[in-house]
Amino acid sequence: MGKTFHLSVLTPEHEFYSGAVETVRVAATDGEVCILAGHAPTVYALAEGELTLRDDTGRTRWAAASDGFLTVTQDRAVMMLQSAEWPEDIDRVRAERAERRAKEALLQKQDRQSYMMNQAMLLRAMTRLSVSSKHSVNNQ
Ligand code: ATP
Repeated sequence: MGKTFHLSVLTPEHEFYSGAVETVRVAATDGEVCILAGHAPTVYALAEGELTLRDDTGRTRWAAASDGFLTVTQDRAVMMLQSAEWPEDIDRVRAERAERRAKEALLQKQDRQSYMMNQAMLLRAMTRLSVSSKHSVNNQ
């Protein structure tokens, strides 16, 4: 087993994850980042995308993550996200509906702020669909 560090993943609703991990991989706004123990202290802005963590038993877990922030200190990483879901908790019908709504909205003429919001909505929905189909226990 590699060296571990403590990861907390918080959303406005709950503590989504808290525990020792070997690695965390997330989508930062300027590309994917992988955090290992001993990573230099830093803050990343996160985009909607897949979150992958390897816990201290060597088990890999995946989740759909919204945008947010990741703060890394010497022996801790804290992610603050708008939302996060495990594959088995994702409601595919709801995500498909959100995806359709976002696509329809993006076809309309709109100001930049609405465009960014609709784009984020589309990315959240697409991430949920992708994480649920790739990693749901029902598919393994
Ligand atoms: P919707 O339009 O369907 O609400 P959304 O992207 O606007 O989608 P969020 O604001 O990102 O939704 O999330 C609100 C809450 O609902 C969060 O707790 C999130 O985890 C949960 N959630 C959103 N979509 C889904 C889904 N498809 N399956 C399970 N939980 C979801």
